[in-house]
Amino acid sequence: MTKNVPEVLTIAGTDSGGGAGMMADIKTMQMCHVFATGVVTGVTAQNTLGVQAALPLPTAIIDQQFQSVANDFTIQAVKTGALFDQERVACVAENLRKYHFGPLVVDPVMVAKGGAKLLTDAAITTLVQELLPLADVITPNLPEAQVIVNRQLTTEADIWRACTDIQAMGAKNVVIKGGHLTHQVNHDFVLLANGRQLTLTGDWVNTRRTHGTGDTFSSLVVSQLAKGQELVDTLQTAKTFLNTILQDEIIVGHGHGPLNHWG
Ligand code: PLP
Repeated sequence: MTKNVPEVLTIAGTDSGGGAGMMADIKTMQMCHVFATGVVTGVTAQNTLGVQAALPLPTAIIDQQFQSVANDFTIQAVKTGALFDQERVACVAENLRKYHFGPLVVDPVMVAKGGAKLLTDAAITTLVQELLPLADVITPNLPEAQVIVNRQLTTEADIWRACTDIQAMGAKNVVIKGGHLTHQVNHDFVLLANGRQLTLTGDWVNTRRTHGTGDTFSSLVVSQLAKGQELVDTLQTAKTFLNTILQDEIIVGHGHGPLNHWG
């Protein structure tokens, strides 16, 4: 028996601890029955307790990985994760303009839960100028959205305004994850390309095993898009799925444990 499988690409950093970054992406994509390819932007020495070291890769090998993927695969959807610095953001944007990989989900990863920076301050402007205009969907959490719009977001009205501002910067559909807004609230704020607003709701899950939730959410989105699911259904599916696996904890590591990527 032979069958075609949707092919997707993650452009991200690795996590030696297996819970976040490209490792979380690939596990999520596998769970979604799509074929994961990966362009590694950098390597982290990391576990569930934190990031111990990070090394961005030279742009020449990033370019080469893009070429290898583009020469052999038919990528149906693509996502970006940790890009580390200005040089890597510019390199990834240039490659995304060069190759046509289908819908782009930008997860503007900035800081790991333990506090380690995965994007320099100097790279924020490059991300806004070069990557946002290419994004079909952008999925910042609240702290990331605050950095992008350069102001505090404390009320729901603030967040909706930030969605509009981020859309004006060029991202077509904006999802601001509200998990950091107030305790016990688990709403995401979505501004669609057609101007429609919608809220993704989920029960508050009381767990400290949240390592890699952002990566997992954006990987769910990219996988569902690759399978041809329409965007609103995709976002709702991703939200529901993430909430389900957050409730089904696995005991791995001694810190902010990784998610259960078996589904
Ligand atoms: N490490 C890498 C390489 C990542 O891409 C990400 C993504 O957000 C993280 C760590 C974040 O991990 P955490 O969910 O613990 O913040």
